Amino acid sequence: MKALVYRGPNKRAMENMPRPEIQLPTDAIVKITKTTICGTDLHIMKGDVPTVNEGRILGHEGVGVIEEVGSSISNFIVGDHVLISCISSCGVCANCKKGMYSHCESGGWILGNLIDGTQAEFVRIPFADNSLYHIPVEANEEGLVMLSDILPTGFECGVLNGQVKPGDSVAIIGAGPIGLATLLTAQFYSPAEIIMVDNDDNRLVVAKTFGATQVINNSLGNAAEKIMALTNNRGVDVAIEAVGIPASFDICQTIVTAGGHIANVGVHGKPVQLNLDKLWSQNITLTTRLVDTISTPMLLKTVLSGRLQPAQLITHHFTLDQVMEAYDTFADAMTEHTLKVIITNSDFTVQV
Ligand SMILES: [Zn+2]
Ligand SMILES: [Zn+2]
Repeated sequence: MKALVYRGPNKRAMENMPRPEIQLPTDAIVKITKTTICGTDLHIMKGDVPTVNEGRILGHEGVGVIEEVGSSISNFIVGDHVLISCISSCGVCANCKKGMYSHCESGGWILGNLIDGTQAEFVRIPFADNSLYHIPVEANEEGLVMLSDILPTGFECGVLNGQVKPGDSVAIIGAGPIGLATLLTAQFYSPAEIIMVDNDDNRLVVAKTFGATQVINNSLGNAAEKIMALTNNRGVDVAIEAVGIPASFDICQTIVTAGGHIANVGVHGKPVQLNLDKLWSQNITLTTRLVDTISTPMLLKTVLSGRLQPAQLITHHFTLDQVMEAYDTFADAMTEHTLKVIITNSDFTVQV
């Protein structure tokens, strides 16, 4: 089968790989209909994620159709249309019982990391009963690809951990797909202000149409000053870091108001400086999280009802044969105005 394979830092190739097979009774094989590329895949390509070995098929997002099920699978049968969670979870270990699927003792984020992922014609999904979701017949398949990772990540790591409340002032540093997913889901709680910060004007224009009340271009590095001016030097109740670099974390710790929350969402490759000398007395809460995807069933309902419209994050379409070009377009987001790309396995269309 065709697959996008990691061949070491800055090397990737479209290759013919063996089709995955059932290894455990709890596995399912899914024929991918649509997948996408994540910012995390770009981190992997840079060599920032040491757990990913050469020869790994990348990708942890997608939708498809069940091709084969292991003998203990009870929730799904061959032919079911399914959404794949980026987190594989057994549902029975101590961490899963706490709802912390991200740290499942035999799962977690393994797809496209420790095991082969979704940027291929077929993928093996471990613990399929607990890691796949049924897609109703009427659903927009493309929009649902956004539910594999970015919507639960923005919502759980940013909005829930940041404890966004009605009337709050919220600043989201980073208007990439994750920052925009955070912006969309923060509005469930009716904050009074949502300030979006990015260096890319195109993304800020999109953020405005997605509900941002203020946008700030940080090309000059003065976003913190501008936010303090906008809030009469009070700062914001919730500062959400959605980039993963020291400078954006620094904005968050400068703008958080007394009693506020800093919620980190970004994937960090370097240490940051924590200014405890200023923050120790400020009653703030700092949170970190790897997405658990525990909110996926709830988010699925909001998408099906039209309350949340994740398809608006999709800017480009490719076929699986064009996956190399899709990576280039996704990596060059500033020039190409890319948010999320959809990669379709065009050899296969869903019969409904
Ligand atoms: Zn991801
Ligand atoms: Zn588990």
